[in-house]
Amino acid sequence: MKLGSDLSGLNAGANAAAPGLSIVVPVFNEAAGLQALHNRLSTLSMTLRQRYGLACEVVYVDDGSADATLSIARNLPADGIDVQVLSLSRNFGKEAALLAGLDHARRGAVLFMDGDGQHAPELAEKLVSHWIDDGYDVVFTAKAHRDNEPRLRRTAVRGFYALINWGARTKIPEDAGDFRLLSPRAAAALKQLPERNRFFKGLATWIGFRQFRVDYEPEPRAHGFSTFSASRLIGLSIEGLTSFSVAPLRIASLLGVLLALGAFLFGLSILWETWIDGKSVPGYPSLMVGMMTIGGVQLLMIGIVGEYIGKILSELKARPIYFIAEHSVRQSDPGASAARSEQSAAE
Ligand code: UDP
Ligand code: MG
Repeated sequence: MKLGSDLSGLNAGANAAAPGLSIVVPVFNEAAGLQALHNRLSTLSMTLRQRYGLACEVVYVDDGSADATLSIARNLPADGIDVQVLSLSRNFGKEAALLAGLDHARRGAVLFMDGDGQHAPELAEKLVSHWIDDGYDVVFTAKAHRDNEPRLRRTAVRGFYALINWGARTKIPEDAGDFRLLSPRAAAALKQLPERNRFFKGLATWIGFRQFRVDYEPEPRAHGFSTFSASRLIGLSIEGLTSFSVAPLRIASLLGVLLALGAFLFGLSILWETWIDGKSVPGYPSLMVGMMTIGGVQLLMIGIVGEYIGKILSELKARPIYFIAEHSVRQSDPGASAARSEQSAAE
């Protein structure tokens, strides 16, 4: 039995563009900006077809939106770009929506981008060029800076990456976002990872291959508000940390060793005081402090271990990560769109 996976057959080399590109867009209550985004993606698709002969499709994954997102998506024209619309049976979260899109992508390479206009389709051209012209397998974008964010948040982000990358063989790049292009073999590798707790940024780094970072400035949201509040981000960080790294468990062990060492030294000092100096040691306050420290630390560590046990439980239950309630595919007419783009070039 082979325990690895050979993806060398998917390395099309000079003809990397042949299988085309799937653009996966998770959408959750994005009705207000969906039409505008689709128009920009149609233009992007025609540009890529002209420049690289790249056939494109867009996969909209409606993540249980409560507004008109799905009905708008159903009626988007397959204008120079094939359109797939997947509707999940409820809101499963962005990571699940990304996976549903990846599973249903019919082309070779996969580009993930947000549906709120923060990821500019124009920048996607640059990502494609790093893939086709320069031969990179994973082209990811990362925030160029965090100058406009509060200091506390920046410190928290730095701490998170320091922790998750502690002792890791492959480091997750700091500030990397979900706006990311995967070559056919990288996309195939990502599809093969079986875990249910999916921390997308980590997984896309873990697969390896030739990776390239593009710094960018995310655009402001085209409409509405971000669904990722501070508490949800903290939840996602704990999720990412525990599904990717055993650093918290290591810290628990280290803390245990430190406490035991502290207790040992304290014990020695008590012995010293009673035997050598002949003092009687006051018991009550030091006992209370000791008990509370040990109790607090133990509860914290049980919580950390519990997080990992929760992960094991959810992997063990092996529930599907998403359910698709509705799926439609609309094929574009390449002849018509070529004629249209020639016409617009002539104008
Ligand atoms: N999204 C989703 N499911 C969710 C929350 C968000 O599919 O439960 C989508 C959302 O429509 C958007 C992308 O994920 O296309 C990023 O979400 P958002 O803009 O809220 O996050 P931020 O840009 O603040 O990270
Ligand atoms: Mg956003």
